[in-house]
Amino acid sequence: MSVLVIAELDSHGIKAATRSAIRAASQLGEEVHLLVTGNDVAGIASEATKIEGLSKVLHADGPAYAHGLAENLTPLLVQLAANYSALIAAATSFGKNVLPRAAALLDVAMVSEVIQIINATTFVRPMYAGNINATVVAPAGLRILTIRPTVFEAVAATGGAAALETLTATGETGQTTWVSRDLVELDRPELATARVVISGGRSLGSAEGFKATLTPLADVLGAAIGATRAAVDAGMAPNDSQVGQTGTVVAPELYMAFGVSGAAQHVGGIKDSKVIVAVNIDADAPIFQVADYGLVADLFTVIPELEAALKA
Ligand code: FAD
Repeated sequence: MSVLVIAELDSHGIKAATRSAIRAASQLGEEVHLLVTGNDVAGIASEATKIEGLSKVLHADGPAYAHGLAENLTPLLVQLAANYSALIAAATSFGKNVLPRAAALLDVAMVSEVIQIINATTFVRPMYAGNINATVVAPAGLRILTIRPTVFEAVAATGGAAALETLTATGETGQTTWVSRDLVELDRPELATARVVISGGRSLGSAEGFKATLTPLADVLGAAIGATRAAVDAGMAPNDSQVGQTGTVVAPELYMAFGVSGAAQHVGGIKDSKVIVAVNIDADAPIFQVADYGLVADLFTVIPELEAALKA
């Protein structure tokens, strides 16, 4: 038997999170195959054969797969599942949309957000906003996993030589209709994979204040900008900038939290950061319990000083 990783594509090709899922899959001790689906993606499938650690790339093409709709992709996964011991994807919005659906149809208890693979059936996953790491054993038979991409290093995009097999597309299910996509064009690193993330909380005061205060520092550091849910709910920052349990989980080299109280739901999404720096006027703020470096100070004073010092 082999393990099947479900590829997630964007306009540049296969996302790095998928290569993290391949790393995780390779730890199950079996051959790893990659499923590439999309509309007119033969070039991407062919390029995928070079990814490190794969023995086969399966390519299914057609308009039904154009937008990664879980409703159209799931019948293909259900069909392929009989040949595999495990289905794996990164725990991104895509993976979290597709695999639970396949698990329900296949009557498998899936294991989500895996952060460590102990052996082929035993996995560690966070619970209660990351306050507890549970070790779980999947029942015998097919395993369906999402893995947290920030904890598995992506395999190299080149160096491999996998076989390429073309599959017959399963087509439209008619359950969902694609309407449109609002794409946010990022002129800075993507939050989930950025090396440096700076985040602001509700204390930034307004959307204008949030942008004007954090953007110049982010520019100097080449950082992605994150926000607390309180800042997002108050309309200060866009939804996709939310960091935490119900937002994006980040694990940058450097995470800087400005005016962030450090609620468990926020901290659950930043714990794997290598270095956490917190600036808060309240010396008792919970963020200081997880910070490697803490500064009790007003962020509106600290940020311009830091920016000037970095520029100098
Ligand atoms: P506050 O808690 O209001 O804290 C503001 C902080 O700013 C305070 O510590 C204050 O001392 C400090 N401050 C004020 N002025 C200054 C200044 N001038 N300089 C420096 N510091 C200053 N939250 C998330 O972030 N992500 C999530 O994914 C998330 N998921 C949630 C899921 C659920 C089910 C629930 C119930 C909540 C969730 N939350 C999440 C919300 C979370 O509980 C907190 O309410 C939120 O994180 C608080 O945001 P905050 O730190 O901006 O605001």
